[in-house]
Order: sequence, then structure tokens, then C-alpha cells
Amino acid sequence: MRVLVLTGAGVSAESGIPTFRGKDGYWRNLDPAKLATPEAFARDPKLVWEWYRERRQRIRSARPNAAHAAIAKLAQHADEFLLVTQNVDDLHARAGIAKEKMVQIHGDIFVTKCSRCDFLDTGRGGSPEPPTDRAAVPVERGRLRSIAPTSEDIVDLPYCPECDALMRPGVVWFGEQLPWKELQRVENYLDRGASDVVIVVGTTATFGYIVDWALRASPEGVRGELIEVNPEETQLSQFATQLVREPAAIAMPHLVDTILADHRTP
Ligand SMILES: [Zn+2]
Repeated sequence: MRVLVLTGAGVSAESGIPTFRGKDGYWRNLDPAKLATPEAFARDPKLVWEWYRERRQRIRSARPNAAHAAIAKLAQHADEFLLVTQNVDDLHARAGIAKEKMVQIHGDIFVTKCSRCDFLDTGRGGSPEPPTDRAAVPVERGRLRSIAPTSEDIVDLPYCPECDALMRPGVVWFGEQLPWKELQRVENYLDRGASDVVIVVGTTATFGYIVDWALRASPEGVRGELIEVNPEETQLSQFATQLVREPAAIAMPHLVDTILADHRTP
């Protein structure tokens, strides 16, 4: 059985990670859709970093829910499996999905990358974030930075050890390109053939590429299931062979068990 799963914020919502949509996602009365942009970062990097640090903290204290666990179970039992998640948190990974079976198409919130060169800090090295080695840099050096007018900012903002530019969260902001390497991994999976089961879960599928990948993985005329798990109707609903109008954590355990039972090799 070949499986493609596409997930979005709805999967993490039940772990207490707020979605960007609606008032719940607001932070200090600010709209995340306006904070998660290159423009916001250029205008006020400190504010954007504060938001990301709070989000990192919230994710660290969150736990994977039943949907993450069910998807990990499916990954384990499918012959071929790929998860493409729009979530930047690490809850899928913590539920046990191997790195090579997962694409984080909107990046990884725990990565800190240089805004200029290719340097990146995966944040997995045990060092607490943000990279604080900057605190050791003499203030005189900081005075030369137009971006960091006070010594407090110098301590708070991470700078690249390679090229000295400001570091930023390793996520894809609104208006930015998707990461090429991750895109290739999705394309490679789609190119290798249709999927027997495609599940689109916890996403309103507002991004055209999500709809596109779901439809390419489950082309018309090829026997396969295209299952949507989402409380609300989306652009993809009209194409689905099965609609599950429930939150992910409620629906996924049963759905995965059913799929595994249906596809069990005799
Ligand atoms: Zn750099």
C-alpha cells in the first residue's frame, strides 16, 4: 500500500498549538499572517523573534495527540509512505515518524538560519535557543549595527557566526518560495506513481500546491482513495472519495485502523 498524507494546523490544534486563523491565533493583538512575513522581520526583527520564541516554548511543552500517533502508525505499516506537513512544529517527529518519511514543506520552527548565507542551526545540538554566543561579543561591535541600536537588542537577536547577518527562524513566510529540496522530495514521491490512499487532514487546503499534490497522487481513473478529514468543507472536498467531518484527533485513530484492516495482505 502506497500512502500520502498531507497535514495542516488542524492536526496540531488539539495539542494546543493555535492556528493562524481566527482570533485564537492572534499574539499581542497582532495578526500572525502579518507577523510571518519577510516585511515584518525587516521592520521589527525583535518583535518577530519574540513571537517565535514564545511559539517554540509552547510547542516544547505540547505533546503529540491521537492524530499524530495514528499517522505514525500508518507510516509504520504502509509499504511506501510520505507525510507532507505544513506544520512547523515537531509533533509528527515526536510521535515517531522517521525523518525520511516526512517533508516539512513550510520549514521547521526549531531551525535558526542566516538571513543572508546558507548557515543554519538546527537547534538540536542541545544548546538552548536563541543562540546566545552573541552576548559575549563586545558592545562596540554591536554599535556598528544599524539593526541593533541598543545593547539589549544585541543580546536578544541571533547573528550568523559565518557572515554576521541577522539570523531568522527556519520557516517559510508568506510570500516566500517553498524550499527547493523539500519540493523535490514531494515531486519524487508523486513521480514514482499514484497512491492507494491519500489523506488530507486538518488543513483548509488554501494553498494551491496542497490541492495539486493531493489530486496528482490520486489521479482520476486510477483506483485510489482520497480522504479528507476536516470539520469544514474545503476546496478539496469536491474531489474526495470520503469525507470525515471531524477534528483530526477524533477521526484519525479509527480511520487508520480501518485503512490498515482494508489493505491487509491476505
Ligand atoms: Zn550567514
